[in-house]
Amino acid sequence: MDIDVVTARVLLPLALPGAYDYAVLDDLDVRPGDFVRVPLGPREVTGVVWDPLPDGVEAKPVDPKKLKAIVSRFDAPPMPDVLRKFVDWVAAYTLSPPGAVLRLAMRVPQALEPAPTITGYRLSGAEPLRATPQRQRVLEMLRETGPQLARPAREIAEMAGVGTSVVSGLVKAGALDVVEMPGERAFIEPDGDLEGPQLSDAQSLAAHDLGAHVGNGFSATLLDGVTGAGKTEVYFEAVATALRQGKQVLVMLPEIALTPQLLKRFETRFGAPPAPWHSDLNQKERRRIWRGVAEGRARVIVGARSALFLPYADLGLIVVDEEHESAFKQEEGVIYNARDMAVARASLGDIPIVLASATPSLETVVNVQRGRYQRLVLPERHGAAELPDVTAIDLRADAPERGRWLSQSLVTAIVDTLEAGNQAMLFLNRRGYAPLTLCRTCGHRFECPNCDAWLVEHRFRKELQCHHCGTRAPTPYKCPECQSENSLAACGPGVERIAEEAAERFPDARLSVLSSDHLHGPAATQEAVGQITRQEVDLIVGTQVVAKGHNFPNLTLVGVVDADLGLTGGDLRAAERTYQLLHQVSGRAGRGEKPGRVILQTYMPHHKVMQALVAGDRDQFLQQEAREREDAGMPPYGRLVSLILSAPELPQATEVARYLARAVPAAEGVRVLGPAPAPIALLRGRHRVRFLIKTTRDFQVQKYVRAWLAQVKLPNAVRLAVDVDPQSFL
Ligand code: ADP
Ligand code: ZN
Ligand code: ZN
Repeated sequence: MDIDVVTARVLLPLALPGAYDYAVLDDLDVRPGDFVRVPLGPREVTGVVWDPLPDGVEAKPVDPKKLKAIVSRFDAPPMPDVLRKFVDWVAAYTLSPPGAVLRLAMRVPQALEPAPTITGYRLSGAEPLRATPQRQRVLEMLRETGPQLARPAREIAEMAGVGTSVVSGLVKAGALDVVEMPGERAFIEPDGDLEGPQLSDAQSLAAHDLGAHVGNGFSATLLDGVTGAGKTEVYFEAVATALRQGKQVLVMLPEIALTPQLLKRFETRFGAPPAPWHSDLNQKERRRIWRGVAEGRARVIVGARSALFLPYADLGLIVVDEEHESAFKQEEGVIYNARDMAVARASLGDIPIVLASATPSLETVVNVQRGRYQRLVLPERHGAAELPDVTAIDLRADAPERGRWLSQSLVTAIVDTLEAGNQAMLFLNRRGYAPLTLCRTCGHRFECPNCDAWLVEHRFRKELQCHHCGTRAPTPYKCPECQSENSLAACGPGVERIAEEAAERFPDARLSVLSSDHLHGPAATQEAVGQITRQEVDLIVGTQVVAKGHNFPNLTLVGVVDADLGLTGGDLRAAERTYQLLHQVSGRAGRGEKPGRVILQTYMPHHKVMQALVAGDRDQFLQQEAREREDAGMPPYGRLVSLILSAPELPQATEVARYLARAVPAAEGVRVLGPAPAPIALLRGRHRVRFLIKTTRDFQVQKYVRAWLAQVKLPNAVRLAVDVDPQSFL
């Protein structure tokens, strides 16, 4: 390469194989991390100056004459070192193009532009020639409330009780100066010195331990405690320590529906709200927070997965709340588990991470056993609240009537609860009215044309809907196959059907149905939750949206309509997930002074999940689950990678699969299963073929898969999704 040309590697937020070289012209000074504009083909794109290749790694030689030059550099805080390292790390781990990961860190293009400003006005000191009473009012008000302070015209007009024309008149008269002022709200600093609640002995021991890790390099801690044990109060103490050290904190939540509650609690504890980060923010807020994070002004971020990719100026602590939640897994684009990536981010940043859960994932539990994570335990609920009493009802012995879903014992328990003036909840993790509609005359089943799935009836909206691709159609009144009228039968229950039965059986109860179809956005969820807390509701029928996080002091009975749901199917984590979910739901009962009760309706009362829930013996369950996984060489004792090939036509996918199957590299410690049709063989109009790569734990699976895939070039019609550590086996 011509030594006269100074070059820089620039990574673009696109699915390209790596960074590109660009020439740096004389008058430009760029360093790694700088955001720059560069030409790419006929257009210009924004990228990040990436780090030089390590010594000894040869770049592909580029003809200097063909090298294009960086156009300009943004006047914005450069992407921090640790974030660049993190992008590379995530790309290598998930087998994604680094640019695709970079895109996750560049979702807010406006943040690179100068801050918006607004026009403000402040006293000039000169008196206006003509001082009308209204003008006088404005001047007096400004003198009294801060003569140096600039304010927007509308604010001044409002404060003085005049029209904005009075303000412009005063400007013309020379009595007010015009100033440009920041157009964004400032961040209020949370105060790490405020007193928290008086902690119990166990809580304060844990809090002390967590606090001691802050500022002392990387560590990972499982904060393990039953729901209501005060885990949040405890990790707040670690947050306080980080704040006192002047550091930033990231608290990750699995669902944005939980954010408003935590924001409020945080504000009460620290005197200022943290900055939320999730998909519901508008562009202006995104810009404000992104820049606030980059400049260290936003001190605490509460966010979803994507908050991991913010440009923290000085991150000192990460908390992952409900660490076991599968919602931390991003299933599209760059497929990653935000919980695991958060641990990597903490390690790269040399800071502590706290994983909190009442039902920790087996992965995390095994990491504790291996000594990689430390564990802190909060064994009891705070205060008077006690864990609920769990019983299983054998549906084979206590069967509901035909077309009904609530057994006699559950109905009796609900009646008792309502009569005592308490609240009850019926839980069924299935949206809609019925999961399957079929024709009684010819047996026709309503299936999605684009997916390998049944259409779910939503009676409330009078339509059939596919829960995989969203396809909807009005509920037909006759069978499309045999044309019979009145022959369609709804099979099985969804929450809407349970609500129908509940309304019939308990006509005097005030009923509330809570599922994502009835609650649009966090605000609606908050409202529904508020109604329950204020006891404007007696009986709640809900899906998993009510299972988590909420605190309903008067709720004393939880009835799980179908505890077996989720145990069927070949999912590796079916038992673990069902246990976690049902434990979580059970945790809604008896959070206040009154003891709670949980009733599980099941056809499998002897299943390990039901036994563990009834006995309240989580660790026994985890041990058994661990043993089974270990015997099968499954995660966390072995590793899995799933490859899914998909194409509009099945032969296109199978052909590539066959080719890949012939190219499987031989290696010790690895087995490649497949190709086989994926469990959902048709999804959103694409046919899917799957390979499952199963290896021993210390096998370098990324290297293996990379070498394997390097041998094929995919035709345009075929897409490949690589899922390292798959959670979903659909
Ligand atoms: P978890 O996160 O383990 O489910 P929380 O931190 O939400 O538990 O605590 C459950 C409830 O108990 C909350 O309302 C919380 O404010 C209260 N609480 C927990 N610990 C204390 C304490 N030491 N003093 C006062 N209230 C507490
Ligand atoms: Zn029919
Ligand atoms: Zn579909």
